[in-house]
Amino acid sequence: TSEFEVVIVGGGAAGIATAASLHKREPSLRIAIIEPSDKHYYQPGWTMVGGGVFEATQTERDMASVMPDYVSWIRQAATAFEPDNNTVVLADGSRIKYIFLVVAAGLKLDWDGVEGLSDTLGRNGVTSNYRYDLAPYTWELVQGLRSGRALFTQPPMPIKCAGAPQKAMYLSCSEWDRRGVLSDIDVHFHNAGGVLFGVADYVPALMEYVGRYGISLDLNERLTAVDGSAKTANFETADGSKTVDFDMLHVCPPQTAPDFIKSSPLAGEGGWIDVDQHTLRHKQFDNVFGLGDCTNTPNAKTAAAVRKQAPIVATNLIAAILDKPMPSEYDGYGSCPLTVERGKIVLAEFGYGGKLLPSFPDWALDGTKPTRRAWVLKADILPKLYWEGMLKGREWLVKPGKLE
Ligand code: FAD
Repeated sequence: TSEFEVVIVGGGAAGIATAASLHKREPSLRIAIIEPSDKHYYQPGWTMVGGGVFEATQTERDMASVMPDYVSWIRQAATAFEPDNNTVVLADGSRIKYIFLVVAAGLKLDWDGVEGLSDTLGRNGVTSNYRYDLAPYTWELVQGLRSGRALFTQPPMPIKCAGAPQKAMYLSCSEWDRRGVLSDIDVHFHNAGGVLFGVADYVPALMEYVGRYGISLDLNERLTAVDGSAKTANFETADGSKTVDFDMLHVCPPQTAPDFIKSSPLAGEGGWIDVDQHTLRHKQFDNVFGLGDCTNTPNAKTAAAVRKQAPIVATNLIAAILDKPMPSEYDGYGSCPLTVERGKIVLAEFGYGGKLLPSFPDWALDGTKPTRRAWVLKADILPKLYWEGMLKGREWLVKPGKLE
């Protein structure tokens, strides 16, 4: 068994950013990252791939190229946690010991939670921007459709980037509008939830686009089954189940905590990593922290949230090593740039309780209105901030909130 001072499970946005933040503050820390994938994805870019703005390859890098050289990369999956023994079990049955553990393993896209979906994804007009290999198919379908019915679905919360299902819809409508075919396409938004967007301040701007594009809002309707060859989708509604024909179907899959987390002693209610929502320290195990999509903190699950969380976990973990009180508190910041049309974005930025936390003063960029500036931010600035700022621990780009 090898032992490290800090073991991080997951080398996605949160795992790499946390390693970078820790190393910046305490270069002598011996850190290991457990990560099975040989690719790292900038998932926020997938909306842009589905909208024909980015090429898929712009959102993918070799894991080796983003894995910092000061960490030991353990190239396999974690399969279990034994927090009473400070141990993580790996896929090959071996064990890694830690003094401090950071869990950053993301969430599980439950494609099989919708009957028939897996069989037809990528064919028969069924697509999803939630997968790297399928986002280009979204754009292919959008370009091919001239008339008929297009359905966009959203599962029950929590999901990562809660705005992404409707971003896909608005960008599709924007393209159909540009080509003059929108009036021949019947567009529906089937949302398992009861509101268009969880923070009310952004809803008026979004409703304007729903009206402009002629979208039918089918709220409280949950996708339960897809028949690809018949091109029908089944929904559970308050009045029972209903079947709808489609020509194009964009699915946002149901999402859960990863199975190995759900079944572990670190899981709280709902199966997510059970951390304090301000310190991000585990509620039961003092030497365990969690961040990113895998925790039960009630923020918007976004890379933007991770950008704020990583320095908070780093400073709190280092304080824990020194047996000091936690110096940093996370305010629940998350952000969702809603691509309402090609070239314009409604930039939702908010924290716990739906409190608006704008990064810019209103005169510079009012997030509740569609703006070109927010589009430039999403298309040109945020990807660089991700690869060169967040993943490298350059935090002058990333105000961490209340710090020591
Ligand atoms: P991830 O980045 O998913 O990384 C998890 C890592 O854990 C992966 O590398 C995985 O291989 C690894 N892992 C999994 N299982 C194991 C295991 N058993 N052992 C070890 N490692 C494991 N965010 C925004 O801020 N803005 C946006 O506009 C935005 N748009 C989005 C659009 C789409 C279509 C999608 C899918 C996401 C979007 N997001 C957006 C959300 C953002 O991508 C996630 O919130 C962010 O990636 C979370 O980081 P994470 O590290 O928690 O998870």
